[in-house]
Amino acid sequence: MKSFQTIKYWIFDLDNTLYSGKTKVFEQVDKKMSKYISEKLNVSIDEAKKIQKNYFYEYNTTLNGMIKNHKIDANEFLEFVHDIDINFLKKDIKLYKEIEKLDGKKIIFTNGSKKHAINVTTKIGINQLFDDIFDIVDCDFIPKPSIEPYKKLIEKHKIDPKLSVFVEDIARNLKPAYEMGMKTIWIENDEPWAKKFSDSDFVNYKTNDLSEFLRKINLEKIA
Ligand SMILES: [Mg+2]
Repeated sequence: MKSFQTIKYWIFDLDNTLYSGKTKVFEQVDKKMSKYISEKLNVSIDEAKKIQKNYFYEYNTTLNGMIKNHKIDANEFLEFVHDIDINFLKKDIKLYKEIEKLDGKKIIFTNGSKKHAINVTTKIGINQLFDDIFDIVDCDFIPKPSIEPYKKLIEKHKIDPKLSVFVEDIARNLKPAYEMGMKTIWIENDEPWAKKFSDSDFVNYKTNDLSEFLRKINLEKIA
């Protein structure tokens, strides 16, 4: 358990990591992105979905593809796609307790917006626990898994990667973190895109229950 005892920086992705993908919160965001593209480019929803997928695969976020190809206003996009109903989300007391117990800095590192991160974490009751939300604006709109945002994050918080853990549901986003020396935890899920590469060496740990995993870390049961 020594390895987790030395950790000073706990870095978490937001969507489908700090809350379950089963909540379908991100599906709402996904639908809003299709709607945005459909309206902006004056195409059908079906066509918009195709464009959205292509951009996501090619540019790692739909937003990045829209900026590169259509020079859209990023803030307008973020505002629009994160305007969703999350009132059904419940407080996650167990997650609160376990994150609170972790020693060191706690940071959210997301390809989404700060406002969305605040909305979601407030709803599940964990918003007070984080030292920073490093969002896509902080990343200069260059998303994970490009190396640039990881470097920016490290620089901003003077992070020593060797004393850090990064938790994510999209396996490929763990690769740069691992290569920089961070410990990596993959949130297990069946989304083909997120699952791809999850059997790679750069995935140190896997869990389908973040609270439970952190509980074991806090109890020093996981090395
Ligand atoms: Mg995620």
